[in-house]
Amino acid sequence: MRFDAVIVGSGKAVRMGLDKLTLSVGSDLILSRAAEPFAAHKDIDKIILVLRKDLFGIGKGIAEKFPDKKFVIVEGGDTRTRSVEKGLAEANSEGVLIHDAARPFVSGKVIDGVIESVKKYGSGIPAIPVADSVRTVKGGRVVGFPDRSEMYAAQTPQGFVTEQIKRAYALRGAEDFSDDSAVYARFIGSPAVTKGDERNAKITTLGDYFGLNSKIGIGYDIHRLVEGRPLVLGGVRIDYSKGSLAHSDGDGVVHALIDALLSAVGERDIGNLYPDTDPRYKDIDSLELLAGVMRMYKERNHKVSNVSIIIIADKPKLAGYIPLMKQKLSEALGISASLIGISAKTTENTQTEEAVQCCAAALVT
Ligand code: MG
Repeated sequence: MRFDAVIVGSGKAVRMGLDKLTLSVGSDLILSRAAEPFAAHKDIDKIILVLRKDLFGIGKGIAEKFPDKKFVIVEGGDTRTRSVEKGLAEANSEGVLIHDAARPFVSGKVIDGVIESVKKYGSGIPAIPVADSVRTVKGGRVVGFPDRSEMYAAQTPQGFVTEQIKRAYALRGAEDFSDDSAVYARFIGSPAVTKGDERNAKITTLGDYFGLNSKIGIGYDIHRLVEGRPLVLGGVRIDYSKGSLAHSDGDGVVHALIDALLSAVGERDIGNLYPDTDPRYKDIDSLELLAGVMRMYKERNHKVSNVSIIIIADKPKLAGYIPLMKQKLSEALGISASLIGISAKTTENTQTEEAVQCCAAALVT
């Protein structure tokens, strides 16, 4: 079963007082961040961006990043319901996913869950249990006490059989609905629920924007320097008579960075992920290990906002290698070199044995 994705970003952002879709998360616009996991998904053929006219340029920029995917850009309507309807008119795969562009942290796992649910049950609504006690209030008085165990917050993407959700929309007349599950429930039937994700929150206020699920991680590494080994730091071969004593290539910059990236998302350290007893990692290029971490990041829709690194060594002089290290790490992390800070320090010859120490901090979303 193949799918199209309708991404709705046509609202006026009244609650924020500024345009949330053009705000950035790290190095990405919120709109791009919300659309790209769909563009990268193997089961999705076409991305339908329903946007305000002034956002068309951003939409074209997203499309250019995915030359193998079909993109259609449609102007939004006066209400969300009308905007979705205009997007659905362009959908012609068997299934369709409808997503709010204000949810930039949607993961591959949530999308997979919705797709599986549509294949099995004809619909899929990601939802999470509500943490607060929900009350019905009328005229300033609490009049209803719904059972919290039955209360869920609905997220997007919401998935349907295209022909069915189109039929539901055709039957709605001029009525507006808060989401697509409500349209489906009214005219087709009770939609199936799939597992949502706390991270897949909707950005509606400036507080959400500044919170943005940013997380910090720190990492540290040290390698003794010995004769007969190469010295590699930040993916760059350094000209020196000694190198790192290590199972891998001993690139302490990349090792500290990997630990910072793993720590930021609550994962265990590099030694756990890539044990130094495993022959597969003997003398391995540490950038390959970093690429593995970045694949995990991509799958979970985590991105790096910026990183900051300190290298501490009395010898050799490293300042001249920093621009090349920044370039290598920029390619590996998929962020601009201007978002990577590297400084080189000495211990003022206070150490009895020669070593390279590295510290890294990473801010990620
Ligand atoms: Mg190491």
